[in-house]
Amino acid sequence: MRNGMMTKIHTRISADPFTSNYDLVGKELGRGKFAVVKKCVEKATGQQYAAKFLRKRRKGQDCRMDILNEIAVLESAKTNPYVVALHEVYETNTEIILVLECAAGGEIFDQCVADNDDAFTEIDVIRLAKQILNGVAFLHRNNVVHLDLKPQNILLTSARPLGDIRIVDFGLSRRMDDITEVREILGTPEYVAPEILNYEPISTATDMWSIGVLTYVMLTGESPFQGDDKQQTFLNISQVNVDYSQDTFEGISPPAVDFIKSLLIKNPRKRATAEESLNHPWLNSLPHPHSHPHLLASPASSLDEPEMSMSESDPESPA
Ligand code: ADP
Ligand code: MG
Repeated sequence: MRNGMMTKIHTRISADPFTSNYDLVGKELGRGKFAVVKKCVEKATGQQYAAKFLRKRRKGQDCRMDILNEIAVLESAKTNPYVVALHEVYETNTEIILVLECAAGGEIFDQCVADNDDAFTEIDVIRLAKQILNGVAFLHRNNVVHLDLKPQNILLTSARPLGDIRIVDFGLSRRMDDITEVREILGTPEYVAPEILNYEPISTATDMWSIGVLTYVMLTGESPFQGDDKQQTFLNISQVNVDYSQDTFEGISPPAVDFIKSLLIKNPRKRATAEESLNHPWLNSLPHPHSHPHLLASPASSLDEPEMSMSESDPESPA
C-alpha cells in the first residue's frame, strides 16, 4: 500500500442507530463531494454536535479505508485545540457517521469574500493565522500532512464576535513517512502547490503553500491564482504568477506581504516551515486596527466597486 494512509483506529465504532442517541436539528451545516454535515443534539446531554455522514461506496469503490484514515488522523490530533474534536463514530450498511465538535461560526470562506463590516481586519487575520499555524505545526510534528487546506475547511467556533478556528476535513490527509505514491491525491485547483501539479513528492511544505494562499485570500478577498479556467489557474500556479501590487494590498502592512511571499515559493525546500512562520515578525506585530482594504473604502464607494470581490463565485460553498 504505502500511500500514507493511517487505518488503525482506537475509537469504538457503534452499530447502534445514530438516531437513538441524537436528534437532527436545523438545516445542513455544509457539504463536500462525498459528505453531508448536519447539526445534531445528543439526547443524553443536550450538547450540540456536527454529524458528518460519509458514504462508504463512492463511484463504485469501497472507501471504508479512506474513512478510517480520516478517523485515525483526527485521533492523532485530539490534544490540539485547533483541530476539530471527534466525539463518536457510528456505522450503518451504507455510511459512517463522524460526530464532531460543532464549529458554529461556519467557514472562514464566507468572511473572506464579504464586504466591509463582515470582512476580516489585518489584526483578525494575524490571530487566525497564528491558530491555523499552531494546528498545522502540530500535525507536521506528528508527520501528518493535511493536503486540503482551503477556506471551506477552516471553520470558526463563532462568527460574531469572531471566535477561534477549527481545522476540519482530513479526508486527504496522509502520514508523511510512508507516502510513495501521490497520483490520485489532488486538492482543490486554486489551493494546490506546484509540486502536486507536477506529480513531484509532497511534503509538509505542500500545506505551507496552501497557508500562503489562505492568508492572501483572508487579507485581500481575492484568490491569487484563480484564472478564467482550470488550465489558466494551473499555469498561474506553476509560474507563481501572483499580484502583490499596492492596489491589491492597499492598507495592508508590508510584513503581511513578506509573510505571504515566504510561503508562495515554487521550490518546497525554500518555503518557510510552520515553526518558522510562527516566528515571522508579522505575527508578532500590531498593525493599525482598521487596516483593511474593505474598510478603507468608504461604504458608498465600496458598493460600486465590483472588483473587490472574488472573480468567480463560490465553488462549493453551501447554498
Ligand atoms: P468534505 O470532505 O466532503 O469536503 P468536510 O469535512 O469539509 O467534508 O465538510 C463539508 C462542510 O461541512 C464544511 O466545508 C463545513 O462547511 C461543514 N462542516 C464540516 N465539519 C463541520 C463542523 N465540525 N462544524 C460545523 N460545520 C462543519
Ligand atoms: Mg471539505
